Amino acid sequence: MNPSNHLTACPACDLLMETISIKQGEKAVCPRCETLLRQAKTHSITKVLAITSSALIAYIPAIFTPLLTLKTMGLAQSGSIFDTFLSFYHQKYYFVAVLVFVTSIFFPLLKLSLLFFVSLQLKIGVYSRSLPLLFRISHYLDEWGMPDVYLIAVCVSIIKVSNLATVEYNIGLFCFIFLVFMTRASVSALDTHLFWNTIENMKKKLRHIKK
Ligand SMILES: [Zn+2]
Repeated sequence: MNPSNHLTACPACDLLMETISIKQGEKAVCPRCETLLRQAKTHSITKVLAITSSALIAYIPAIFTPLLTLKTMGLAQSGSIFDTFLSFYHQKYYFVAVLVFVTSIFFPLLKLSLLFFVSLQLKIGVYSRSLPLLFRISHYLDEWGMPDVYLIAVCVSIIKVSNLATVEYNIGLFCFIFLVFMTRASVSALDTHLFWNTIENMKKKLRHIKK
C-alpha cells in the first residue's frame, strides 16, 4: 500500500481523511474541528538521539548520588533516590519501595534506553526485527515513568524542613532536575509519525534486498 493512501481519523471528531505528507516544521489540522493532527518536528531523530544520550549520562549521578544534605544540631544526613528506595524497603514499606523503584528508577531508564536505541538505529540506518516492538514499548512507558512527581516531592520536602534544618543542595539534585527536563524534552522532540515512517521504509528496503 502506498503510504500516501493511508487514512487518518481525527481523534476529536472522528472525521476520516486521506493522510497528507507534510514538510518539517509544518502542521496538519482537522478541516472540521481544527484539532492538531500532526506536527512534523525538525530533525526529530537527531534531537531524540542527542537528548536521550545526554539524559543517560546524567542518569547514574541523578539516581545514585545524594540529592540533599540536611544539617541539624551538628548532625548531617544525605540521601540519593536509590537510598530512598532502600530505606522504604528496609522499613518494610514494600509497596512504596516498589512504587519509587518502578516510577523513578526503572521505567525512566528503560524509556530513555529504548528511545536511544531506536533513534540510534534509525540514524545509522540499521534495521533489526525488534525495532518496531522496542518503539511500541517506549510508547507504553509514557504513562508509567514519573520522575517529575518525585522532583515535586523533593521540592515540598525542602520547603517543609527548611525551618528545622540547614539544607545543602548536592550534585545529584542538579543531575536529577536535568534528567527530568531531558525526559520531557525527548517526548516533545519525538515525531512519532516520522519514526514509524522511517521504520516502515527500512523494513521495505530490507524486503526488497532479500528478493
Ligand atoms: Zn476533527
